[in-house]
Amino acid sequence: MPDVIVIGAGFSGLEAARRLAGDHEVVVLEARERAGGRTLTHSFANGDETDLGGQWVGPGQDRLYALIAAMGFGTYPLWDDGDHLVQAGGLKRYRGTIPNLSIPVLLDLNRALSRFEAMARQLDPAAPWTHPKAQEWDRMTVADFLKRHAFTARAREMFTIGIGAVFCAEPHELSLLHALFYARSGRSLDALLSVTGGAQQDRVHGGMGALAGAVAASLGDRVRYGEPVQEIGWDPTGVTVTTRRQSWRAKRVILAIPPSRALGINFDPALPSRRDALWRRMPAGACIKCVAQYDRPFWREAGLSGQAVGGKLAVRVTFDNTEQGKAAGQLLGFIEGEEARRWSEVPADTRRDAVLDAFAGFFGEEARTPIDYADKDWTSDPWTRGCYASVLGTGVWTALGQDLRKPLGPIHVAGTETAIHGFGYIEGALEAGARAADEVRAALA
Ligand SMILES: Cc1cc2nc3c(=O)[nH]c(=O)nc-3n(C[C@H](O)[C@H](O)[C@H](O)COP(=O)(O)OP(=O)(O)OC[C@H]3O[C@@H](n4cnc5c(N)ncnc54)[C@H](O)[C@@H]3O)c2cc1C
Repeated sequence: MPDVIVIGAGFSGLEAARRLAGDHEVVVLEARERAGGRTLTHSFANGDETDLGGQWVGPGQDRLYALIAAMGFGTYPLWDDGDHLVQAGGLKRYRGTIPNLSIPVLLDLNRALSRFEAMARQLDPAAPWTHPKAQEWDRMTVADFLKRHAFTARAREMFTIGIGAVFCAEPHELSLLHALFYARSGRSLDALLSVTGGAQQDRVHGGMGALAGAVAASLGDRVRYGEPVQEIGWDPTGVTVTTRRQSWRAKRVILAIPPSRALGINFDPALPSRRDALWRRMPAGACIKCVAQYDRPFWREAGLSGQAVGGKLAVRVTFDNTEQGKAAGQLLGFIEGEEARRWSEVPADTRRDAVLDAFAGFFGEEARTPIDYADKDWTSDPWTRGCYASVLGTGVWTALGQDLRKPLGPIHVAGTETAIHGFGYIEGALEAGARAADEVRAALA
């Protein structure tokens, strides 16, 4: 009987297993036939790679940089030279994080952003519900905040696109307290939106999904694929984990899967009502990640960075995702929030055309003729069902947040959604995996 069963071979489960494997018998049960969860490296026909899931690492994400180095991978900066584009009543060029808008709009946007950042800085990311105004902020949505603190339609539109890019959700879906916590957990909203100096700064040579694959490979046959867990039963003598294929016994379990997926498992004894209520109120955001590959990064010839924002088409945020050292260029676009749910229902070819339409709207007609194309609809993936992470609506943090990391008997919970720092990010997945491993080590000592 293994000491520990880890459920889920995403970065969080792998980190927990890696930390325990030296001195405990560990088995990792993974539903898919691959490791990496919300990270996925795709190979184009010409052999170039792209990440269709999580890909970036930036300052402050020290655990992830350390893992990259420990596994012998390297990083390179995302292309960040040239002018960015904003579609705001016509296409305009700008530099930096804030688009080139009229002075009144800029002042309005800056004021709203500064206000948001100042509120976020006041929170304790380990216990956001303890802030004196937690109840008030948790009753408001980000849309309510915008009504109060942004007065021009354009500033609200830009803030909304920024929220979409960070949360894959609409302002009215998000508790203000959750949005403030998330920004605090990831350093600041500005850091989460920025390239150089921010969360989009660096990419991993070979791909982030490939890094997860390498971590899983280092664990050898401890990782079992095609083992979707259906039931977890526990009593004073240990835990029984039942997958589609077989039952396993262990002393402890680490559950490292998204909350919405945990609800698909039958628990015996039944989950406490608060935990059930919490997980039910932690649905994921919605995102389709789209990458077009071109014979060269042609937009650079026009002095453009490949970063564009705004407009009314399917894709409202783009990046130059070209692999360092490769001739072919890559444009990356995100379809987010309500748009993602809409485009998830549309045939793949129609969606591809819509994405290329949006790219052409920013970068010209050449964008309509890529040499290859790939996208990944995370909302329809049965083992993820949305991304980048859970989106908490009003009232959840203050009513139920205290239960987020509490073990359920011998079952410990990990996953990026239980992180204090880097909630929603790979960094948070690693922190949570390490914390759950510490809990198990202490319990088994
Ligand atoms: C499109 C996209 C872009 C992103 N961009 C970034 C980025 O640039 N930088 C960044 O840091 N983060 C990014 N993220 C978020 C990041 O990928 C996640 O926060 C992180 O990978 C989550 O890791 P995890 O281990 O907590 O969960 P997951 O990766 O979801 O791992 C959970 C694992 O559990 C498995 N599983 C689920 N149910 C069961 C079951 N019943 N039985 C067994 N196994 C099960 C799943 O198959 C999965 O492998 C992005 C995510 C997406 C989707």
